[in-house]
Amino acid sequence: EQTVFTFGGDTPHTNARQKDKTVTGGKGANLAEMASIGLPVPPGFTITTEECVRYLKHGGDFSNELRAEVAKALEHIEKTVGKRFGDAADPLLVSVRSGARVSMPGMMDTVLNLGLNDDTVEGLAAASGDPRFAWDSYRRFIQMYSDVVLGLDHGLFEEALEIAKEDKGFYNDTEMECEDWQALVGEYKRIVADALGEPFPQDVSRQLWGAIRAVFDSWDSERAKVYRRLNDIPGDWGTAVNVQAMVFGNMGDTSATGVAFTRDPATGEKVYYGEYLINAQGEDVVAGIRTPQYLTKTAREAAGAKPLSMEEAMPEAYAELARVFDLLERHYRDMQDIEFTVERGKLWMLQTRSGKRTATAALKMAVDMVGEGLISEEEAVLRVDPMALDQLLHPTLDPDAPRDVLTTGLPASPGAASGRIVLDADTAEQWSQRGEKVILVRVETSPEDIHGMHAAQGILTARGGMTSHAAVVARGMGRPCVSGAPGVSIDLKTRTLRIGERELAEGDTLTLDGSKGQVMAGEVATVEPELAGDFGTLMEWADRHRRMKVRTNAETPADCRMARQFGAEGIGLCRTEHMFFDAGRISAVREMILAENEQGRRAALAKLLPEQRADFREIFAVMAGLPCTIRLLDPPLHEFLPHGDAEFAELAEVTGVGVDRLRRRADELHEFNPMLGHRGCRLGITYPEIYEMQARAIFEAACEVAERSGEAPVPEVMIPLIATRRELELLRALVDRVAGEVFAEKARTLEYLVGTMIELPRAALMAGEIAEEATFFSFGTNDLTQTTLGVSRDDSARFLAPYVEKGIFARDPFVSLDIEGVGQLVELAAERGRAARPDIKLGICGEHGGDPASIAFCDTVGLDYVSASPYRVPIARLAAAQAAL
Ligand code: ADP
Ligand code: MG
Ligand code: MG
Repeated sequence: EQTVFTFGGDTPHTNARQKDKTVTGGKGANLAEMASIGLPVPPGFTITTEECVRYLKHGGDFSNELRAEVAKALEHIEKTVGKRFGDAADPLLVSVRSGARVSMPGMMDTVLNLGLNDDTVEGLAAASGDPRFAWDSYRRFIQMYSDVVLGLDHGLFEEALEIAKEDKGFYNDTEMECEDWQALVGEYKRIVADALGEPFPQDVSRQLWGAIRAVFDSWDSERAKVYRRLNDIPGDWGTAVNVQAMVFGNMGDTSATGVAFTRDPATGEKVYYGEYLINAQGEDVVAGIRTPQYLTKTAREAAGAKPLSMEEAMPEAYAELARVFDLLERHYRDMQDIEFTVERGKLWMLQTRSGKRTATAALKMAVDMVGEGLISEEEAVLRVDPMALDQLLHPTLDPDAPRDVLTTGLPASPGAASGRIVLDADTAEQWSQRGEKVILVRVETSPEDIHGMHAAQGILTARGGMTSHAAVVARGMGRPCVSGAPGVSIDLKTRTLRIGERELAEGDTLTLDGSKGQVMAGEVATVEPELAGDFGTLMEWADRHRRMKVRTNAETPADCRMARQFGAEGIGLCRTEHMFFDAGRISAVREMILAENEQGRRAALAKLLPEQRADFREIFAVMAGLPCTIRLLDPPLHEFLPHGDAEFAELAEVTGVGVDRLRRRADELHEFNPMLGHRGCRLGITYPEIYEMQARAIFEAACEVAERSGEAPVPEVMIPLIATRRELELLRALVDRVAGEVFAEKARTLEYLVGTMIELPRAALMAGEIAEEATFFSFGTNDLTQTTLGVSRDDSARFLAPYVEKGIFARDPFVSLDIEGVGQLVELAAERGRAARPDIKLGICGEHGGDPASIAFCDTVGLDYVSASPYRVPIARLAAAQAAL
């Protein structure tokens, strides 16, 4: 099968494999596509991701076939450009670029200006008529190649450059003259020879294969692995390699390089957005070597900046760029993230891809593009990543709260964050692991800081623009970020920080407003989020397209209210035991547990009844008219037992029973494996009076709410941990009897259901029989995962992470449903349940109800609803719509 694809020149764009990002990677597929629609793309070729996987598997050897195909593809570039690789008179130079299936910013390394050596540099100088440019390119090449391919410390080269500039009294690289670069190249070659014991490779073919090898190898670099782990990217995809003719942004003042977005990736506004640098190459913009300039006049003026925007400095190239922006947006029907270079006035496109965006921007763009007729409502719903909504579902800074603003930098990634200052990534990780909220403060960030950025609530950098590493990564992670903050200086020796006139130390609290770029001392008050504007619009569209209902897991009136505001259509799981922990009640609960007989238990339960009834009354009032699944007491009783002398003494006082007797009774209740012990419906079987009290509280509260408001909730009484039909038969009879009693007392009948959780493998297998007694099933996938895998949720942290790393589980099965395994039980139980009782209601109430991948599965097996925690309800609504589309 073809392993190398060419693009540009006269390459036809017809091969399906070349268009497939899984084969040619995102960068390669899009370069070929841009070339095919007539955009100016330097010619090149792509080695497939499959070849990378093969290479990594076979211990890093290239096949003869590959060598032959690469040689042929190189000829394609040579023919198109009219120069030859390694030609001492007028050499072709290439870049060697990685490009995985999805973009991994800053993860894989690029080598520019490859093909230069002591001979070709002279040819480049002569052919271009610009020796300074040629030597600038050569020194860049030696530094990049030494860093990326030869594995030398780039600090050595930076230091040499700093010294060279200092000697000359220069501040900017642009002040360096031809001779200065030439001298530096000599110095660089010495550094390489010293470190390697052999000279810098002069053979251009060896250079090329070295770079290809380095790109392949970088797939397995630590940085790449960390990024993949944080972003759920499988380790077996591999990266493609793109080899492309160089174009030069460093050929003087009519040349430039830049990065741009067709819309503002932070706000979603329809304005061109980006940065460029005159007389510069490639990563100068991202690396923050010089402060980049604005793309548009409007943006420059808004920022009050002096250096001319591209629109002003290079009006023709800018006009061409603007034309390309519009063309690309119409072609891809999405916001594009673009890299370009201007060589002596001519625009070249070096990359395009759908741009990363904040959640706010994603919503605005999706809604706007429907308005512009670019995409349909369905596409808009599919465009927004449900998990990204999480960013918008958390409190934001109160606009009326006082702010002690220390400095204002660039609004690089929106959102608010407060936390304690940490000055390096490792500290950020350590502090956050012990539960601290931290703000990572750096001069600038690099890929080595990723783990710390992930651990931090927000990121502040002293340097860097809107497309700096910090800004790009923070936006991708949904972390608020302020970059390029003026007046910030960091002293790593004393672990202190100065912002303007103020002295701060590591550990002090800071607040960031990533939308305004503000950095504030101390913590600033926050307000709850709202589903207004574009968010509201998109949710409406989502609701129109989903089949499954979305409920919430909630047990307090406040949570219920929040969930209803977020669009919950009922309660999917109300855990009654949470109500038992309240301060005023725990002693009555303990009294009940430690009672020696039924009479003692009933006495304690009588105290709990009014409390529990009041709880349900409040919840039902909020959820009036909606179904409310209430789970009867589930946890092992020992969870409620008193701990320590003080609690026993207090209980002895309340109950009048001696401490010794209480202790003995507590010892009797000890269990070796409580999760599989005396819990769930087993409590109801052995102590029916507990479930009686709970059922009474539910029905009395429902009647009272119906009476008061005229709108009754629909209680769905759920019996936990059922394994057999007989268990449910007994407990259902109990609930029905109590309901009958209460309805008779209150002289009113209400609709209600009795059903069960399916959370044991036996229950799933016997679902047909169990359905004869149940009018609904709710899949308790937390316990079902635990019992199916034989993995204790509370003890799994230690081995699950390595399990995921080694690919044993694709994801943590407690976060994302193990569809292959546990999913089979869900599917089978749904089928058998429905066969026995066609109108049985089916839902899910485990944590998985808020996970988009698991929600998609629930839709496939035909569940009626999913239930998620209040803040996840909008995520579930969107995910349910995407599943249905
Ligand atoms: P990344 O994936 O890290 O963005 P790229 O492969 O896109 O890496 O390369 C980084 C930068 O190098 C690009 O933005 C571009 O400016 C520059 N570059 C890459 N290839 C070429 C080329 N053929 N000519 C000129 N510049 C290039
Ligand atoms: Mg890079
Ligand atoms: Mg790039």
